[in-house]
Amino acid sequence: MKKFLDENFLLKTKTAQRLYHEYAKGMPIIDYHCHLPPQQIAEDTQFETLTQAWLYGDHYKWRAMRTNGVDEAYCTGAKNDRDKFQQWAETVPYTLRNPLYHWTHLELQRYFDIHDVLNGDTAQQVYQECTAKLQAPAWSVKSLLRKMNVKLICTTDDPVDSLEHHQKIRDDEFEIPILPAFRPDNAMNVSNAAKFNSYIKKLEAITNISVSSFDDFLYALQNRHDFFASMGCSVSDHGLEEIYADDFTGLEIDAIFTKVHGGKELNEVEQRKFKSAMLIHFAEWDWEKGWVQQFHLGALRNNNTRMLQTLGPDTGWDSIGDFSQGRALSKFLDKLDVNNKLAKTILYNLNPSDNELMATMGGNFNDGSSAGKIQWGSAWWFLDQKDGMSKQINTLSNMGLLSKFVGMLTDSRSFLSFPRHEYFRRILCDLLGDEIENGELPNDLPWTGKMVQDICFNNNKNYFSWQLDQQPATVIPSAG
Ligand SMILES: [Zn+2]
Repeated sequence: MKKFLDENFLLKTKTAQRLYHEYAKGMPIIDYHCHLPPQQIAEDTQFETLTQAWLYGDHYKWRAMRTNGVDEAYCTGAKNDRDKFQQWAETVPYTLRNPLYHWTHLELQRYFDIHDVLNGDTAQQVYQECTAKLQAPAWSVKSLLRKMNVKLICTTDDPVDSLEHHQKIRDDEFEIPILPAFRPDNAMNVSNAAKFNSYIKKLEAITNISVSSFDDFLYALQNRHDFFASMGCSVSDHGLEEIYADDFTGLEIDAIFTKVHGGKELNEVEQRKFKSAMLIHFAEWDWEKGWVQQFHLGALRNNNTRMLQTLGPDTGWDSIGDFSQGRALSKFLDKLDVNNKLAKTILYNLNPSDNELMATMGGNFNDGSSAGKIQWGSAWWFLDQKDGMSKQINTLSNMGLLSKFVGMLTDSRSFLSFPRHEYFRRILCDLLGDEIENGELPNDLPWTGKMVQDICFNNNKNYFSWQLDQQPATVIPSAG
C-alpha cells in the first residue's frame, strides 16, 4: 500500500514520477487568473490565525461545512477563529474524495511542513503550529507567494477599481508582478436600473467624465481600459451565464441606454441586445491593445435569495447552470473574426457537458497568427478536481493540441491555494506516464518532459508575452 500523500502522490508509474520530479516540479507558477485581494499583497499582510488565512473568504470550505451540518456562525458568522477552525477540522474527515481533502493536506505540507491528517483530534496542534508560523515574516503574504515560486499573478478587478493597491505594489518594487485584469461584468449588467445607474455614478467619479449618453458611457469605460493597460493589464475576463450575440443597431443601443439611465427597467430583449453590444466593444478594445480575453461561461449564481441578502455574492451559493453555449459563442467569435478583430481568447465552461463543445470551438478560429490562439481553459471551479482535470486534459488531447495548452490557474481567493498547480501537474504527468508505459506514446522523456514544462509555464509565458526577466516596475506585457 502506498503512503497517503507522499512525494509520489497521484504518480502511479515510474515514468510519471520522473516526468513530475525531473520536469514539472521545478517550473515556476504563473497564476493568470485568480481573485487574490491586492490590498493584502500591498500591505504584505501577516495573518493572525490559520483561520484568517484559510477560512476567511473560502466559499469552497464554507459549502462543505454547511453540507456537514455546521451552523453558519462558524462559516461566515461571529464565532471566534479557534472555534471556526475546530468546526472545519471536524468537517475535513467527511470531505474524503472531495478535492478539499487533497488540497487541505497538500497545503498543510507545502506551507507548514505538517504531515498529519487534519481532524477534530489534531485540530488544536495544527492550529497552534500554523498560527505560530504565520506570525513570522517568512509567512507574510508576499513570502507565501515566494515560497510557491510564483512568477506573476493577475488579479480580477472591476473597471471602477482605483488600482491603488496595484500601484503601491509597483511603488514598493515587489519582485513578483501583480497585474490587474479588467472584468467589466457590472458595466453590462442592466437587469436592475437602479444598480446600473449607481455603477455609472462610480464610473463618473473615477474618470471625471460625465455620462449622459451611451457614447459617454463607452468613452468613460474605454478611459478605464486605457488606465488598466497603463498599469500593466493585458487580460480581460468576463463571468457570464452565456455569450450574448443578439443582433443590434447603434440606434437601438442608444435608446436602450437612455431608457435604463432614465431609471426604467429593460425587458429581456433589450437587456440581451445591450449585453451583446457591450461584449463586442470590450472585445474590440482587447484586440486593439493585443490583450487576451477570457470568458467564464455557465455558472448559475446566487441561487439562494435568503443567503444572497445576508452575505452577498461569491459566498458559496452558486452551481453549474445548463445554458445553451454553442451557437451564440460561434456567432460572437465569428463576428470579431470576420472584421479581423478577434483577440487571443480563453474559453472556460462550468458545465462539463460543454467540454467537447468548447474544445472544438477554438479550432474554428485559430488563424496561424499565434500558437493556440483560441484556448479552451483549464477545468474551472466545480470541475477543478482530479476527475474534471483529467477529462479536460483528455478532451483537449483528443480534439485540440494539449501541447499548446496555457495551463493551470488557481482561480482562488486564498494565498494558500497554490498547491493546486502541483495537483494539476501531477495529474498531467500521471496521464502521460501511463501512456508511455503502455506503449501508447514513445518513451521519449526529453520530448514529453519539454511538453510538460511548456504546459506548466512556457506556453503561458509565450502566449501572454510576459516579460518575466525584468524588474516589476517595467513589466508591461508587449502587444500581440
Ligand atoms: Zn475567477
